[in-house]
Amino acid sequence: MSNPGTLFIVPTPIGNLEDITHRAISVLSQVNVIAAEDTRHSQKLLQHYSISTRLISLHDHNESQRARQIIDKLELGESVALISDAGTPLISDPGYSLVSQCRDAGLNVVPLPGACAAITALSAAGLPTDRFVFEGFLPVKQQAKHQALDKLARETATCVFYESPRRIEDTLQATVTVLGEDRRVVLAKELSKTFETFFCGSAQDALAWLNEDDNHRRGEFVFLIGGYEGEGDVMPEEAIRLLKTLMEEMPLKKAAAVTAKHYELKKNALYQLGLSFNE
Ligand code: SAM
Repeated sequence: MSNPGTLFIVPTPIGNLEDITHRAISVLSQVNVIAAEDTRHSQKLLQHYSISTRLISLHDHNESQRARQIIDKLELGESVALISDAGTPLISDPGYSLVSQCRDAGLNVVPLPGACAAITALSAAGLPTDRFVFEGFLPVKQQAKHQALDKLARETATCVFYESPRRIEDTLQATVTVLGEDRRVVLAKELSKTFETFFCGSAQDALAWLNEDDNHRRGEFVFLIGGYEGEGDVMPEEAIRLLKTLMEEMPLKKAAAVTAKHYELKKNALYQLGLSFNE
């Protein structure tokens, strides 16, 4: 039997086409096949670098079946590169199933260092970088989003999320509601592209900035939340429990008002939180 081949995990640019390493170009040129999330999208990158390696697709919907075919190739001694539409494969992108199956099969997996939006944003956000939590995309549904943020309310490390332009406003509103309007956040937008922008400030100010101009909401975002620093800005769990209990007995408006009075909190924040429980 021939020696097994290698699966290379190859990061590609997140915007600026020049953000690719010499090694990535050489690996992509030399492997037998490149597995890409969207072959048409990746073809443009390959053309730009005059790489003519054959592309096959590997995306969320065919990954387990494709993984088997790729493992067969590797076992026959072929080498394969995995790329995604942008940045590092497996980071909120397909590839986990393939890599874990390769590891289980004892195959060689070699990662190349390269572009990743989360790390790029973190490196220039001005928030602490000694500890950070990468959370990928928050849930879309409001109640699940609120719950996910609530779980992170006392997280002291910087939290890093990916977010789409369609949901960034909603996510900031949820952040104001659950973590308080003063929580420090950073919006890192269009990294490495012409309109790269960082907004750094309180959650409330970031929401206002988004609403200031339609252009502020356009593009791709990394959303960062500063770690929990004290007692002030988080909705206390006892208050959430009281609100829920009262909501079983009285209208939300009143439940929010009573809870706000009892815990000296903002009525509107409790009202918004109560609304999310009903969604
Ligand atoms: N694997 C990629 C990586 O390593 O960064 C991430 C893929 S994930 C499907 C796509 C998300 O990454 C976007 O919705 C956005 O939140 C973030 N992203 C990708 N490129 C970006 C950029 N140039 N600027 C800001 N965020 C970006």
